[in-house]
Amino acid sequence: MTDKRAKRIARLIDPLRVDPGAKVDLANDFDPGYRSDFLRKKDGVELLDTGIALLADYQARLAAEGTHGVLMCLQALDAGGKDGTIRHVMSGVNPQGVHVSGFKVPSAEELDHDYLWRYACRLPARGEIGIFNRSHYEEVLVVRVHPENLDRQKLPKASKGKNVWDRRYGEINDWERYLSHNGFKVVKIFLNLSKEEQRTRFLRRIDVPERNWKFSAADVRERRRWGDYQKAFSEMLSATSTKWAPWYVVPADRKWFARICVGAVLAHTLIEIDPRYPTVSDEARHNLGVVKRELEAEAPEGAAPDPYIAGRNGHQRRGSGKKAKKARV
Ligand code: ATP
Ligand code: MG
Repeated sequence: MTDKRAKRIARLIDPLRVDPGAKVDLANDFDPGYRSDFLRKKDGVELLDTGIALLADYQARLAAEGTHGVLMCLQALDAGGKDGTIRHVMSGVNPQGVHVSGFKVPSAEELDHDYLWRYACRLPARGEIGIFNRSHYEEVLVVRVHPENLDRQKLPKASKGKNVWDRRYGEINDWERYLSHNGFKVVKIFLNLSKEEQRTRFLRRIDVPERNWKFSAADVRERRRWGDYQKAFSEMLSATSTKWAPWYVVPADRKWFARICVGAVLAHTLIEIDPRYPTVSDEARHNLGVVKRELEAEAPEGAAPDPYIAGRNGHQRRGSGKKAKKARV
């Protein structure tokens, strides 16, 4: 990874990070229509492709090293673009190394456990990237805006007092710090959509028949609580952006820009982890040599002792020099 590329990524995402301890007022502090002045849409497509290739390379190293895991939490209001963002940003990575988990209204079994249980069950393993499409933050967002959800959680009376939200912020911060101490980096992204852009996207879902299935009457009911959600998001961002698990507020009105930013946040996280392919010990390398000679000795009549090396050398010879190229045409 060139330093220049890493710096460019940092420059893009720095203004989006919520400083730990900062008091956020979403409506005043973050513009859903913002884009960096050094990025135009036509450069965006190319940049997203570069970002996707970079993620694929880092993910392969993360998996090979098997020490760290990454958890990316995506939060947004309805039509914020979570699904499309995941589809685009993760399009180049090996599906075996990525797990996407979506969280809906909790099931009866989930309600029989503590509120973080269902999220803990879906954490990534070492070497994996886990993506939460909605996350444990719903426990201080939708549950806060609709307190009847809290009643369904079967909590003891003493755990439902007025300070329940502050307590949950603290518990979530502690849980994420525990994960980070154990090799799991948590990054959190809020796709920040404007009310007007949400209106446009809802209407599109109604107007285009192929999109009708994406629309639910519940979405409009939630929209009526826009102000309450903005307040809940502002408080949550203020209380839970930490050194070990920062929040990024990604402007979501322009889908192309949001996707680049999400890719950049993930790339930045992986660059910081800097996973390496494991190197083998001298003894293991010696053993590889022994096995290699044994396999070479098995070459049938007329076959190269090591077809891989023979092929690679042949390929290099064919590919080198103008003469070789001309000879092939
Ligand atoms: P889409 O963008 O496709 O609509 P979605 O993430 O909104 O995807 P839905 O099935 O429409 O998925 O909605 C999931 C619902 O589950 C949301 O309304 C969300 O608020 C709700 N939900 C998630 N977690 C909880 C929770 N812990 N308690 C109560 N409701 C929850
Ligand atoms: Mg929905």
